[in-house]
Amino acid sequence: MRRTLPDPGERCVFCGLAATPVSVTNDIQNGDDVSHLERDSPFSFVIANRWSPFGPAGGADLVITRRHVTDFESLGSDESADVLTAMLEVRARHRTEFRRTLAFVNVGLEVNGTQPHLHGQIVSTNVDVTAPVSMTVDATSLDEDIALARQHGLMLKDSSESVSYVAWAPTTTGEIRVVAQDPTNLAEALRAAITDLVHAFGSLAYNIVLLHGPRLVAQILPRFTAVGVLPPYFGMAVIMIPPSDVANALALG
Ligand SMILES: [Zn+2]
Repeated sequence: MRRTLPDPGERCVFCGLAATPVSVTNDIQNGDDVSHLERDSPFSFVIANRWSPFGPAGGADLVITRRHVTDFESLGSDESADVLTAMLEVRARHRTEFRRTLAFVNVGLEVNGTQPHLHGQIVSTNVDVTAPVSMTVDATSLDEDIALARQHGLMLKDSSESVSYVAWAPTTTGEIRVVAQDPTNLAEALRAAITDLVHAFGSLAYNIVLLHGPRLVAQILPRFTAVGVLPPYFGMAVIMIPPSDVANALALG
């Protein structure tokens, strides 16, 4: 499945925000639209309360790259580490205010990415939603998950800085899990894995989902086909390509 977002040219919403002056109260006035700047850096900026699916009952902050890039793997080392650091900071703040928090990146219209300018989203709510969204892994389950990947020959990278592997029991076809000690190593491992995915399978759409765990943990959820896309965490997945085939393709890529 290809990424089907059109090139916005001069009309990119986020490039517009990035170029608009910031007031002394950290507001960005873009025509009638006012955004509040929560965090700023040379590589990214954070906008508060934008596109909340839960309205006032929730939080929805955006981490937007200063540079117009369409995908995570095109970011440099400093940029990708900064984006992840910002997402982790915002998520940490949300977790003190909200019961449910989800941090993710969508690349491609097929995975609900509607802006062709890379951004992370941290969406939180106190509403008692019925969908199971417990994005937490404990140390034991994480170690078991990694051990299973080793046992089945699904490891992509196995070093002291980071571990990347094709999930033995993926939630979507070709799911890759990345575990690292700090945002820089997490960013490097994510970019390397996505670059290999794109090299092996073409410029597919994907989500990056940050899990909450004893170490930094992220899922890459690529979309290989138009069918078999289900919400994760229902304990059920439609797998179109065996994990071993994905691991082999990436190892060869
Ligand atoms: Zn842009």
